[in-house]
Amino acid sequence: MTEAVIEMKDVSLTLGQGASSVHVLKGVSVKVARGEATGIVGPSGSGKSTLLMVLAGLERVDAGEVWIAGQRIDGRSEDEVAAFRGRNVGIVFQSFHLIPNMTALENVAVPLELAGHSDPFGVAARELASVGLSDRVTHYPGELSGGEQQRVAIARALAPEPAILIADEPTGNLDQATGRQIADLLFATAEARGTTLVLVTHDPSLAARCHRQIAMRSGRIENAPELAAVSA
Ligand code: ADP
Ligand code: MG
Repeated sequence: MTEAVIEMKDVSLTLGQGASSVHVLKGVSVKVARGEATGIVGPSGSGKSTLLMVLAGLERVDAGEVWIAGQRIDGRSEDEVAAFRGRNVGIVFQSFHLIPNMTALENVAVPLELAGHSDPFGVAARELASVGLSDRVTHYPGELSGGEQQRVAIARALAPEPAILIADEPTGNLDQATGRQIADLLFATAEARGTTLVLVTHDPSLAARCHRQIAMRSGRIENAPELAAVSA
């Protein structure tokens, strides 16, 4: 038996208004097992990023159910979802999304501080060390390479010890060698911590490193192999 840490049931979502509205998710059902690394693949515009935003509670669904770590998140207030996300879901984006006027240490520590963590700067320093950036803590994002910025983003995402880490094209802005290092880091840390990883990627070699690949097309799941048993 595998425990589903993510379950979407028949989720539909239309974005935009009037003539420019797009039916982005058309009855999507997905289960992801705890500790599993799942790759989401599919053509541009098929709804992959939107699926991740739904999992993060950053997009509200029009119909269907979204369950994360045993809790139903659709239909809750924005404040409730934001608090839930802060504890349970880490997010890494293609373009890093660091705050430019904060140091690496502050980028990781400030969200913890806002969440009321007792030792935000101590945890942030440890997280930055674990991604190999002990000697860059006082650097600003503009003083860091792309790979280093993505390491800071990974440290920030993992610092609250979320059950789930979602990553949208995390290597898409990096050269091949740096992208491989970032992928190695993502897979290794997710596995070491038992974090469930949901990864959107265009890169077949990256997708192939996941336990399972789910293919999307035109807002639907085109192909999703059965949940693999993930060893504890
Ligand atoms: P992918 O990540 O697979 O490339 P997205 O989830 O970003 O796809 O987008 C899926 C579709 O939804 C695209 O056709 C996109 O243009 C459309 N879309 C995304 N966001 C909006 C929005 N806010 N308003 C209207 N259409 C949107
Ligand atoms: Mg996308």
